[in-house]
Amino acid sequence: MDIKQNVPLSKYSTMRLGGNAAYLLEVSNRNDLSAAVKWAKTNNLPTIMIGSGSNIVWKDEGFPGLVLVNKFMGYQPFAEDSENYYLTIGGGENWDNAVAQSVKAGATGIEGLSLIPGTAGATPVQNVGAYGQDISQTLVSLEAYDTTTDLFVTIPNSDCGFTYRSSKFKTTDRGRFFITGITLHLMIGNPMPPFYPALANYLSERKITTHTPQVIRDAVIEIRKAKLPDPQEVANNGSFFANPIIDQGTLSQILADFPDAVYWPMEGGKTKLSAAWLVEKAGFNKGAYDPETGMGTWRNHSLVLVNEHARKTADLLKFKQKIVDGVANLTGITLVQEPELLP
Ligand SMILES: Cc1cc2nc3c(=O)[nH]c(=O)nc-3n(C[C@H](O)[C@H](O)[C@H](O)COP(=O)(O)OP(=O)(O)OC[C@H]3O[C@@H](n4cnc5c(N)ncnc54)[C@H](O)[C@@H]3O)c2cc1C
Repeated sequence: MDIKQNVPLSKYSTMRLGGNAAYLLEVSNRNDLSAAVKWAKTNNLPTIMIGSGSNIVWKDEGFPGLVLVNKFMGYQPFAEDSENYYLTIGGGENWDNAVAQSVKAGATGIEGLSLIPGTAGATPVQNVGAYGQDISQTLVSLEAYDTTTDLFVTIPNSDCGFTYRSSKFKTTDRGRFFITGITLHLMIGNPMPPFYPALANYLSERKITTHTPQVIRDAVIEIRKAKLPDPQEVANNGSFFANPIIDQGTLSQILADFPDAVYWPMEGGKTKLSAAWLVEKAGFNKGAYDPETGMGTWRNHSLVLVNEHARKTADLLKFKQKIVDGVANLTGITLVQEPELLP
């Protein structure tokens, strides 16, 4: 095992900020993973598994233990019959490559999740979702190393505790399971309308009426590219705040004060309020730049905070707080950060 010491974590976050990891290991097989976790336990070091750092903000203090970078590879499709298509993907595989391959095979179920940065193994953690799909809709089960029992386990979908952009891996069992692989159940055939509004508009504006998985993937990629920066080129973590879920009373209050509020009704009487609208309402428009911190908002999307010249995570957090305070003072709503601040 090639455990490295004092590794800059800025290379392991697409925001490109943060201190050092005391120890870091790129891990690609079960033996090394269990040996590394046991070594860390023996040395009283905390452990964490990460993918490609697209949803992580590292603190300036760094991580005082062992960071395990998921490099478990593999892509195994299994066509049960002419309709049912199963896919087992190594946790360290690039997610979008996996989507591309499934789409090429004519399978539907994850084409709406095209171009989401990161690894396959991270998708269950925040139940990644976009354009009306999320991973909980197709995940059969996942393989993980249970750091409590030191055993490899299979966890079925029903035990993942999936909710909107969350799961037990982000809440009650945070940090316990290191996900080494996922198995999905896709269907051969075309995705069926109704599509998510932004996608439906895109298709109808272009008079696209044949909805193959490839057509939907291409559309999603084009919509995303117009809106979101490529983390390879611009340091960012995607949407920095989650859309607040509010009750009917809060919605009525917001609408009384702001008739132009942007929101989407959800099942069960709750409402998803647009965090981007809140951010802009508080005065942080698209393409805003804050000279004090070197941070800004992306030119095409106010919810995406971009690191233009920030040197420390403290700069990012100061800029974030300006937005959170601005929104809270105006509306009483506290925005919640989506990328995880670690450790
Ligand atoms: C430009 C941009 C657009 C984005 N768009 C979307 C979007 O549309 N929808 C969406 O849901 N997300 C989106 N994201 C967020 C991000 O892509 C996802 O959260 C992605 O799943 C993170 O993958 P990762 O491998 O980079 O995980 P990391 O950032 O490395 O890790 C994220 C969290 O998961 C944990 N984790 C990672 N891998 C494992 C594992 N194998 N086992 C256990 N825990 C693990 C980490 O400890 C950490 O807590 C976007 C991000 C960016 C930068």
